Amino acid sequence: MPALRLYNTLGRELQEFKPLEPGKVGFYGCGPTVYDYAHIGNLRAYVLHDTLVRSLRFLGYEVKHVMNITDVGHLSGDLDTGEDVMLKRAQERGKSPYEIAEFYTEAFFKDTGRLNVRRPDVVCKATEHVQEMIALIKRIEANGFTYQSGGNLYFDVTKFPKYGELALIKLEDLKAGARVEVDPNKRNPADFALWFTKSKFENQAMIWESPWGRGYPGWHIECSAMSMKYLGEQFDIHAGGIDHIPIHHTNEIAQSEAATGRKWVNYWLHNEFLITSSGKMAKSKGGFLTLQTLVDAGYHPLDYRYFLLGAHYRSQLQFSYEALDSAKASRRSLVDTIIALKEKLGTASPAASLGPKAKSYMEAFTAHLCQDLATPRAIAELWGLVRDNDLPPAEALAAANEMDGVLGLDLSKSERAASATADPALASEIDGLVAERVAAKQAKDWARADAIRAELKSKGVLLEDSPAGTTWRLE
Ligand code: AMP
Ligand code: ZN
Repeated sequence: MPALRLYNTLGRELQEFKPLEPGKVGFYGCGPTVYDYAHIGNLRAYVLHDTLVRSLRFLGYEVKHVMNITDVGHLSGDLDTGEDVMLKRAQERGKSPYEIAEFYTEAFFKDTGRLNVRRPDVVCKATEHVQEMIALIKRIEANGFTYQSGGNLYFDVTKFPKYGELALIKLEDLKAGARVEVDPNKRNPADFALWFTKSKFENQAMIWESPWGRGYPGWHIECSAMSMKYLGEQFDIHAGGIDHIPIHHTNEIAQSEAATGRKWVNYWLHNEFLITSSGKMAKSKGGFLTLQTLVDAGYHPLDYRYFLLGAHYRSQLQFSYEALDSAKASRRSLVDTIIALKEKLGTASPAASLGPKAKSYMEAFTAHLCQDLATPRAIAELWGLVRDNDLPPAEALAAANEMDGVLGLDLSKSERAASATADPALASEIDGLVAERVAAKQAKDWARADAIRAELKSKGVLLEDSPAGTTWRLE
């Protein structure tokens, strides 16, 4: 087995991955802020997290994947400026922030389920972990890293000499640098709030008692508190989009290490942005593309997954419908090639063991994954495998299934989608619901799983569950 090498933002280099405990990986990926639908840029981050987890498991690691749901405390500006996004949306809709959070959390899992993103082992909501945050802030305070000002509690970045190491920013430059909008309570522009009591927002619905007064946590503390609760005070990998490097992750490191007095996370992975011809896609900008927009336009959610995996996660990726069309055509053609292999195989089963040639494809595929998750090359290997006429179909199929276990493209399962109905939009919708039901079952959300089965039944779709997975057919 080749060594897994990952590009660590901390150090800006490819490094051999060495877990804290042999064979085990603790992984935390920053989750969504649930005041709106995830846009297709956000979904790039979650497809990366899923690909990382699938790859690690494929390589034999036991992985614990933790993801937070930000349902409190996220202001529109990362520097403690702007509006409280949850509260603003709740007021606009005449709902409580909790109702808004619940609605968009469900929408998030619907989207990620349709993209075959497996549900993390632990999904934790910020609002349910405020006591853990308070306990952590107390430790940071006891170690002398905080000050109170204007009713809020702040982290003083000048007390943490390594501040900015992840982002390659120097404390000196930060002190001197003028920011556009600075909270006047801060001693240094880069200081950040751990706890707010003097809310500038009326009718703040989400508030808790704390040693610093009734209020609510700053945004960054939730990730430190929840990751430590579920993964321990040191863990292996932390991921998020590149926008998180200069502020959110920089602050997470400062406060975590200020509390524990030792190194917190060993490997930091960041995905580059998905952009459109008009620039970066941002939730706060509105008018963004969602997965549903793509489904409504006739694409299968997994066409989008294929599109994402066709680029390396550290390259900026420009979205266009032309590029998505090409991903869609490639995925369909891959599915058709696999259907043809299955036809050749007839009633026989895929091979239980691989011969030398199929093995060499698997080895090359594995080597690409080990090179910082080079998914475009891994997909190319899969193509080479299924098109190799020298390979017995039983072996080609067995190896393709293994590769697809990492890529998550449902290549074998999509057979019926391609053949059972001539209407690709309907097939795509059905596939999406089936994937969502699988995700609901994994999450033991039986009510949702049953509701989806009933919805499919009303569309004339019958499901068949077997140990190999779920397939469907039209009545
Ligand atoms: P949010 O829900 O806004 O907190 O963002 C969720 C995740 O999406 C974070 O890891 C962000 O870094 C990431 N992200 C935000 N915008 C983009 C984008 N345009 N492309 C890729 N990732 C993004
Ligand atoms: Zn985070």
